[in-house]
Amino acid sequence: MNSNRRPIIAGNWKMYKTAAEAIALVKALKREVEGVKDVEIVVCPPFTALSAVSAVVQNGNIKLGAQNVHWEKEGAFTGEISAPMLKELFVRYAIVGHSERRQLFGETDAGVNKRAKAALANEIRPIVCVGETLAQREKGQTKTVVREQVTGSLAGLSKDDMLETVIAYEPVWATGTGKTAPPAQAQEVHALIRELLVAAFDQPTADKVRIQYGGSVKPANAKELLGQPDIDGALVGGASLDARGFAEIIKAAV
Ligand code: PEP
Repeated sequence: MNSNRRPIIAGNWKMYKTAAEAIALVKALKREVEGVKDVEIVVCPPFTALSAVSAVVQNGNIKLGAQNVHWEKEGAFTGEISAPMLKELFVRYAIVGHSERRQLFGETDAGVNKRAKAALANEIRPIVCVGETLAQREKGQTKTVVREQVTGSLAGLSKDDMLETVIAYEPVWATGTGKTAPPAQAQEVHALIRELLVAAFDQPTADKVRIQYGGSVKPANAKELLGQPDIDGALVGGASLDARGFAEIIKAAV
């Protein structure tokens, strides 16, 4: 972490928790993180629980995020949710390009780019996910893949847009698998992403953008990962479903 960037810890609840279960989880988290000020805390419940969770987190230190957003304002897009729909529920962040969306639902960098822009146009900060698969890492393609994803997903963003955007580096082989990237290896990719931002924007912009690490972050490994100079937070899946454990990760960022 770097003191010029406010750490951001986000919980991706994936397709877990009914609305009633989500209320119980966020209430428990609220108690655990009472008084935590120096870390931005975000929870991303399923769409069906956003309204209920929104009511619980109003005026507190937990912000609401969505797990995706469509690029159109409205229309015949069955199963999709638009940015204005999210904004009305006080959603402040939206994950875009999560590896599960890319792998299981065929999302592409071009689509991720459109989703990110729609979020930004509605004052929702995108959390843009990038990361290589195990096969790509083993073939030595990590840098090429990450470069392509970063460039494609962020194409056409202004400097101001970039400052509102968060990047999550999530190696696919470490996401939902229990395997974590060794901190030095994660740092290497984070540094590469920052260099890409310098090239695409400029040094002052790149210095301000927050880059989260994601991939089996747990209370036991959070401190070391967050201790790396270019790791500015975490996107947490499984471990965010336990209020106490997630709070421990959040406190490791203080
Ligand atoms: C994620 O879903 O973004 C994630 C990183 O999952 P996990 O923490 O379970 O690996």
